[in-house]
Amino acid sequence: MNEQLNYAPCSYLLLAENGRILDANFMLLQLLEFEMSELKGKSIQSLLTVPSQTFYQLFVLPIVEMEESVEEVYISLKSKTGREVPVIMNAIKQLNDGGITISCAMIAIKKRREYEKVLLAAKKEAEERNIAKKKAIQELNGLRKELENKQQELIGMNTMLQELAMTDELTGLHNRRGYSEKMVECISQFNKTGNPFSLLIIDIDHFKKVNDTFGHPIGDQVLKTISQMIQEKIGGEDVAARIGGEEFAVILGEANQREALEVAESLREYVASSLWTIPTVTISIGVATTTMDVTEQSIQARADEALYASKEKGRNMVTHAAEIYM
Ligand code: GH3
Ligand code: MG
Ligand code: MG
Repeated sequence: MNEQLNYAPCSYLLLAENGRILDANFMLLQLLEFEMSELKGKSIQSLLTVPSQTFYQLFVLPIVEMEESVEEVYISLKSKTGREVPVIMNAIKQLNDGGITISCAMIAIKKRREYEKVLLAAKKEAEERNIAKKKAIQELNGLRKELENKQQELIGMNTMLQELAMTDELTGLHNRRGYSEKMVECISQFNKTGNPFSLLIIDIDHFKKVNDTFGHPIGDQVLKTISQMIQEKIGGEDVAARIGGEEFAVILGEANQREALEVAESLREYVASSLWTIPTVTISIGVATTTMDVTEQSIQARADEALYASKEKGRNMVTHAAEIYM
């Protein structure tokens, strides 16, 4: 073998057609720690690891037979001490004077393997980081959902608290505060549209006597029953409130004087003709309907005056404010 091939920057192996080793360059002998005398005449298989022996037999050899050459084959050699030496190999089949030979050029790829290992480790780490990131995003989304739910709960509770602050505990009707807010809304609506609305102030007659005779709990029961009766007689858009001990207010959103009187009369009659477990309970009602320069105070004062007139006339009566000033 000439000097240049002997010390070329690759390992070189010359095989007979039957796979016997004819020659090897110095670089190959150095790589595998053999003397030439130890290799000459041996089969190539003795230089391969077990998996590579099969691979050589079933894959490399048939290709060389058919196509006369093979390129970039990854294969593992075995050194004299049994160390595995991965190489990349090109082989070519040639016809020489002495017959057919196979020339194999090999380059050790130990470094490449190490790079691959580092690359694989880096890839694995990146994948793990990706999974951790996805998990963190999922957790974050979960927390955001939880926060949204809590906010929603808080908004719900706030609405409930606002309703509670405007509700009379005993009867479930609006309290004076709720009534006032509705009255402000109605007046502003009236100022915009000019559509009249009416106010009923309802007071239970001789209620003190009910308490004194039958006790406070029965009095409370009467207050609840009257509240239910009021609600039965008004529409969904109307507003009923308990504005004092035994005094109620009803805003009839779309009622003029005549319509308001009809509702009031119907309610008075309903209460008076109901079967009470105690001697008959009656109510007196004062009614007022919007006038041009209406305010919360003015309409209420007029309804109060009308209520006073109903009491004066003997109770269990309905009076409209307009009747007083006729
Ligand atoms: P009038 O026909 O003039 O309205 O007579 P009245 O007895 O109904 O009026 P008065 O203002 O003299 O008495 C009202 C009574 O209402 C006094 C009070 O004991 C009673 N009352 C006020 N709030 C409540 C309540 O929440 N529960 C009960 N059971 N009674 C109440
Ligand atoms: Mg009363
Ligand atoms: Mg009263």
